[in-house]
Amino acid sequence: MRHYSLSDSSGKGYYRISPQREAMNGNLPAGTVSTFLHQKVEVGHSLFLACPAGDFYLTSTPAERIVLLAAGVGITPLMAILNSLVKNNSKQPINFIQAAQNSQKQPFRNHLSEVVKNHSNISWQTVLSRPTEQDRMENKFDREGRITLETLQNILHTNDGDFYICGTPAFMHDMKHFLLAWGVPEAKIHYEFFSSFQ
Ligand SMILES: Cc1cc2nc3c(=O)[nH]c(=O)nc-3n(C[C@H](O)[C@H](O)[C@H](O)COP(=O)(O)OP(=O)(O)OC[C@H]3O[C@@H](n4cnc5c(N)ncnc54)[C@H](O)[C@@H]3O)c2cc1C
Repeated sequence: MRHYSLSDSSGKGYYRISPQREAMNGNLPAGTVSTFLHQKVEVGHSLFLACPAGDFYLTSTPAERIVLLAAGVGITPLMAILNSLVKNNSKQPINFIQAAQNSQKQPFRNHLSEVVKNHSNISWQTVLSRPTEQDRMENKFDREGRITLETLQNILHTNDGDFYICGTPAFMHDMKHFLLAWGVPEAKIHYEFFSSFQ
């Protein structure tokens, strides 16, 4: 069994998932289910699925600032949260911080740039660990390297808000550790364990 987060707001008459293809990597084989979904499944096929379930969802009040911290394909549940806020015409400040290797491995890049163009309460910061030459030439990121406590402090300026984190276990561990060190109450830190290795 594999889990895939819903990656869009509810109430649209369909559920959307966004599986990343786990390609062959050196001696490691390609991922079984993600390869099947990418290569074999077509529109019109039927699949046996369990009902959506989970405890990682928006619990903030409309007055709170929301900070979304995503790494790689861990962005998917955060897209569901962001798109729900947009759909509900939320006016609270929202900071979306996205970590990726480079712009080619940055899911939802085009969608996010459209969202921030049309919503002045939403800011989006891109932190690339290994930007390509083209990323540099086209100025496709805000910061280079990994997200540290200093990065968070420089972007956010205040530790106030409700924080939602999703990415690799190492990313979530680091973000939680940084936020606690900054004085964010544990109850304000929400995260979803998200890994290819289960
Ligand atoms: C709550 C939750 C939500 C998730 N949401 C998403 C989502 O929205 N989008 C998404 O893309 N993923 C998501 N995942 C991850 C997803 O469930 C799968 O784990 C992922 O798609 C890989 O599955 P697979 O069958 O393709 O790979 P698998 O066949 O399970 O392989 C996983 C990895 O292990 C490596 N591997 C396989 N065999 C070996 C071996 N013998 N030795 C060493 N390495 C090996 C493969 O190369 C591959 O990289 C989520 C996971 C969780 C827990």
